[in-house]
Amino acid sequence: MMKGQLVIMKCREENLMAEISFYLKDEDFEKPPEDIYYLLAANGLFKITKTFAFTASTVSFTPRKGKELKSLKVHEEELKLHLPKKIPSSMFLDSLGFFREIYRLHQSEAEVLLYWSDKEKEYVLIVPEQMAGSMALSAEVGANPKGLDRVGTMHSHGDLWAFHSEIDDRDEEHDDGLHITFGDVMDFPSISCSVVVDGRRFMVQPKNIFELEPFKLPLVPKAWVKKVKPIRG
Ligand SMILES: [Zn+2]
Repeated sequence: MMKGQLVIMKCREENLMAEISFYLKDEDFEKPPEDIYYLLAANGLFKITKTFAFTASTVSFTPRKGKELKSLKVHEEELKLHLPKKIPSSMFLDSLGFFREIYRLHQSEAEVLLYWSDKEKEYVLIVPEQMAGSMALSAEVGANPKGLDRVGTMHSHGDLWAFHSEIDDRDEEHDDGLHITFGDVMDFPSISCSVVVDGRRFMVQPKNIFELEPFKLPLVPKAWVKKVKPIRG
């Protein structure tokens, strides 16, 4: 048993045995080896979830005001992204091209599943069988193909801007992972990136997800630059 480890709870459901550890966030707390555990802190109980792509702290409950556990340290909800590498810009373009073609044909949304091959050290895109409408989508996801770990989903919003709708929140509530929405697919595309863990959505900057090819900008006229005076102090 590790220092600060409170208890191991065992749940038996049919033939499935699951163990989960609870730790106290006290002075002696050190990150434990488990990928999933609970952490009791001054301001509540947090679930810590570590995958190959991210580590998240999500709050399970918070004590009433004045009932904080003052002998423990405070913890916060957070997401630390540690993708094996960024998604190549070619996959961004392949996905956008697919979403654009489906929108051109059916004026509908579409979805692509994103996997990671640990053997190849590469991402893999798979298009699942799906029923898609202008504001609806249902895809047959199924189990992970052999040798692949699912990273998340990418889906389009046609000519609407990229955001995470209430339907997306419902669809992704029990689907921990990276969830990316592409919007305005026929024009200048918009993109919204997030990681969902235990129904909690953490927004992530696209630059931390996608590798972008550097593009060369033209020289700026000196007369333009001279117009801008810095504010000092
Ligand atoms: Zn959506």
